[in-house]
This record gives sequence, structure tokens and C-alpha cells, in this order.
Amino acid sequence: MRLFLTCIFALGWIPKVWAAMPAQHLPGSAAQGDVLEMQLSVDNAKLKKGSALNVQFDSRTLPCFSWETADQKEPGATQFDCLAGIPADMTEGARRLEFKLNGELFLTHTVEILPTQYPTEILHLSPETKALMDSPKRGTEVKIIRAQLGTESKQKLWDSNFLLPLNGKVESVFGERRILDGKLKPGFHKGLDLGAKEGSIIKSAHHGKVLIARRFSEEGNMVAIDHGQGLVSIYLHCSKILVKKGQIVRRGEVIAKVGTTGVSNSFHLHLGFYIHDQPVNPNYFLDYKKNHVPTTQEK
Ligand SMILES: [Zn+2]
Repeated sequence: MRLFLTCIFALGWIPKVWAAMPAQHLPGSAAQGDVLEMQLSVDNAKLKKGSALNVQFDSRTLPCFSWETADQKEPGATQFDCLAGIPADMTEGARRLEFKLNGELFLTHTVEILPTQYPTEILHLSPETKALMDSPKRGTEVKIIRAQLGTESKQKLWDSNFLLPLNGKVESVFGERRILDGKLKPGFHKGLDLGAKEGSIIKSAHHGKVLIARRFSEEGNMVAIDHGQGLVSIYLHCSKILVKKGQIVRRGEVIAKVGTTGVSNSFHLHLGFYIHDQPVNPNYFLDYKKNHVPTTQEK
């Protein structure tokens, strides 16, 4: 077989059937807080206008998106990308995923959830800052934010590494457990904290559309950007917001300035990434080229 392969490559010839082989990528494992990036190929004969492919994972139904480009290199099949966020506190062990095409079971897959070691941090907040967490507006604010973080725009606007919005000092990493007043706070830190001088500029991590550009009690001045296909980045505790809701921004465009608004004890940017409203480790997207499995078209 090896000799045969050597011969055909030496001749610069690749069998047509081989070149048309569909791409399929289903990782067997993923760590807590990671992104599960899956690719599936569906025979066009099984698709009709308005066909929908979903994946059921962790009691949630997540949409998959077909490639936008018209010149599919794999005749007879359509490629789908499916992204799922692994909660930072998900129990370790095997998880079954079910792919459904137009509501019918299409494929099942099992993923092993691996542990991630997260540090613990003692948090010091002034009484005035702590009081912001009891704001009577909080319930309404959470509803507004969650509705935006669950945005599912069809068009994918990223194809490369996300930009670090600020060259700051890493003060807190994703997944940290926080101790406040001697008690472990429920949940975990949902982003990356980058310390910087007041007023330092914050850039958009990638192309996108501004979903949120306003102040909230805990988040302070907040910007959220929709990058398409269920991926949203957020920028918290800003001193100033320089964009408006609905505005289209480019990768690297200045969107805000560093502050310490909301529940914050220092001048810093909290950078967060959400996949289908699930917070995931920002490092995945900051090093996207390394982590991402190239599609057939990208190879
Ligand atoms: Zn933070």
C-alpha cells in the first residue's frame, strides 16, 4: 500500500474518489472549559431546502452550520461545522452526543470529558462594590445579557486567530474559583482578566456586529460582539464605550477603554467568549489556528 501511495504522489496524481472524500472530524475527548469543534459531512440526497442539522449535548440542542462557499470541493455532500462549549464545571466522564437531521437521529458520538485544573483566588471587594451584586435591576439585566449571548447569526465572520484586545497583565484566568468573605463563591470565573492603565484602548478581537454597548450593575460598561454561528465575545468593566449597538466592527478596531466599572477591584479588561451562551476558555480562540481542525477547503 505504501509503495502504491508513493507512486501516485510521485506522479502528481490523486484519485478523484479520494479527493472527494468527505471531511469528518469528531474528537474523542475534550477538557472542561474547552471548545468541542466537530465537522460532519451529509449526503446531499438527504438534504432538502431548509434542512437543519443539530447536535444534542448536555441537555441542550445546538445548531450546526453548513459552509457558506458555493464551490464545494466535495460534490454530492455538504459540510457542517458544529461547535459546543464544555462547561468548566462539567462532571468528568463519557457523554453521548446525538446529531439530528430534520429531527431524525442521524449519528451518535461519545466524548470523554477530561478534568482541567483551575486555580483558586481570594477576592477583595469594597462594601460599595459588593452592594452592586444586590442591585434590584439585576434580574432584568441578566435576562437582557443572556438573550444577546445566545445570538445565532448564520454567517461566520472569523477564520483566523482572535486578537488579544489589549496587551495587559494576566490577572485572572478562565475557570478560577473565587473565595469572597471566606466562602467559596458558586460558579467560576468566566473569562480572562487583563490588567492595564485606566483609559488604555481595547480592540475588537475579530470582525463582528455589536450586540451590547451599555452599562450594567455587575459588568459595568459592557461591549458584546457577535462573530457569527453562535460565537460572541464580551468586554467588561470599561471606562468608556466607543461603539454603538448594531455597529459593524473589524478585527482590531478600537471599541472601548479600560476602566473599573461594575463589580471590579482594579483597572482591567474582562474578556469572555461564549459559544451558544456557554462560557468557554478564551485561549481557544486566541490560538484558533492551532486548535482548529482545518476544513477540506482550508487544507
Ligand atoms: Zn473577570
